[in-house]
Amino acid sequence: LATVAPLPPDVDLRMPKGGALVTMEDVTGIEEAEAIRRDFVANVSHELRTPLTALIGFIETLRGAARDDAAARDRFLTIMEREASRMNRLVGDLLSLSRVEADERVRPTALVDLSAVLKGAVQALAPLAEARGVVLVRAGETGPLRLPGDPDQLTQVFSNLLENAIKYGGSGGEVRLTVEQIAHEPGLRGPAVRVEVADKGEGIDPIHIPRLTERFYRVDTHRSREQGGTGLGLAIVKHIVARHRGRMRIESEKGKGSRFSVLLPAG
Ligand code: ADP
Repeated sequence: LATVAPLPPDVDLRMPKGGALVTMEDVTGIEEAEAIRRDFVANVSHELRTPLTALIGFIETLRGAARDDAAARDRFLTIMEREASRMNRLVGDLLSLSRVEADERVRPTALVDLSAVLKGAVQALAPLAEARGVVLVRAGETGPLRLPGDPDQLTQVFSNLLENAIKYGGSGGEVRLTVEQIAHEPGLRGPAVRVEVADKGEGIDPIHIPRLTERFYRVDTHRSREQGGTGLGLAIVKHIVARHRGRMRIESEKGKGSRFSVLLPAG
């Protein structure tokens, strides 16, 4: 973008009279941000419209063909409930995402016991693991681990990672949560805590790994929908970890499983 302004009278640039000052401004960043925003709005609209279209279709069927068929009515109401819950989850995840994106620069100062957070996340996911025949194993440190953090947000991080490991990596039969204290990590000033969620499932093709934390990015959209996923889980995780000045690493090997590790500064 170029702006042309008349040359101020006191500026002597040794230009002929009547010259102009041209300033150049790089708008690549602004255009990129605008494109990302447009993409996001299009994605949200699409994600909301899919369950809405299904709901409208079933309402019509219930008014018409299925009116006097009690079994069909039951079946359709079950599907409608599932679609409405999906919308509810999506709106909840969108709210979480906008909240954590908004205060990313504010570092939590209150101390939280990470062990208690992890215990809560494991307890919350135990019924899902059991239903899928997955054994949840907790390894490493189990004593109190105090670090600056937001307990609700950290619970969300580890619940999301555990839920994904059970849903997408559960075929391996085991999900392992390992906690380790680290005295010194290159790039971090003080001590840190590493939490790792590892599964023995099918693994993820390396081409997908760098994009997994993008909003609405899924390896297999159909599978994610079937599992009730919103496609926002890892984006939320990434922002919460950033807010805690932490780091996240995703490693995976096809046929062997995946490992999501989070490193959080402890001081
Ligand atoms: P979703 O709501 O689809 O689960 P996420 O952002 O949590 O959204 O995850 C994005 C995608 O990453 C998932 O759709 C899935 O394809 C992939 N994924 C996440 N965790 C795992 C895992 N442990 N094993 C294999 N694939 C995974």
